[in-house]
Amino acid sequence: MKLTADYHTHTIFSDGKNTALENALAAEQAGLETIAVTEHGYSHHFRGLKRRETEAWLAMIEDARAGSKIEVLRGMESNIRGISGLCDFTEKDFENFDVYLAGIHIVIRYENFRDRKLGWGGWMRRSLHLKPSERFVRDTTRAYLNAIEKNPLDIITHLNFQCFADVKEVAKCCRDYGTYLEISSKKQHFTDEELAEAAATGVRFVINSDAHSADRVGDAALAAEQIARVGIPLGQIDNIEGRKPTFRFAEFKKHL
Ligand SMILES: [Zn+2]
Ligand SMILES: [Zn+2]
Repeated sequence: MKLTADYHTHTIFSDGKNTALENALAAEQAGLETIAVTEHGYSHHFRGLKRRETEAWLAMIEDARAGSKIEVLRGMESNIRGISGLCDFTEKDFENFDVYLAGIHIVIRYENFRDRKLGWGGWMRRSLHLKPSERFVRDTTRAYLNAIEKNPLDIITHLNFQCFADVKEVAKCCRDYGTYLEISSKKQHFTDEELAEAAATGVRFVINSDAHSADRVGDAALAAEQIARVGIPLGQIDNIEGRKPTFRFAEFKKHL
């Protein structure tokens, strides 16, 4: 299995160690054709890209484009900020980005006080190995479904990291809206059963490294292991073997 593109990488503008150029050169070395630079979103308290830094960040992307031979996309790992599905971009932000990812994180500005449970509630339950209530899973699942329905999201990142959602329901929604489900190679977030259930819905997958340093860009090893173990058809993964995904956000922007 050979990765064509890595759509989830961080730089010094969020909590990564390297610049976009250093990541792009590592990707080139690893034989990739494309990377997306995807900092944490604007609503992340400490690790997110700041709106006022956007110009400098775009300049860093230009450097990476000029200094490497691969395609470098401008992306963001936006935060799902509430059960309503609110994410980080406003329409004004659209022109500065090529790909739109979203995931649930802690230490962000939630839409409402009660929405803090999405990240913090999941984090606490995972840390203490507590089983989530049905209502908790229902609310988290609703947040994902609303986010996918209301925003032109390209990729849902690390589903069920620091939270608990119904993977099958989220996968069905991704399938219906043309949003990709990420299989992370940073950590395993799906159980084998969840990954099999997701695949059975017909959802399309991408494998991403979620690299926070250049030496991990293009690393697909952990994801490849689970994919082989569960028996996911490789034809269902759109960023390997020379294939490229068709992204929803780019299509959406054409019709603005
Ligand atoms: Zn993340
Ligand atoms: Zn990330």
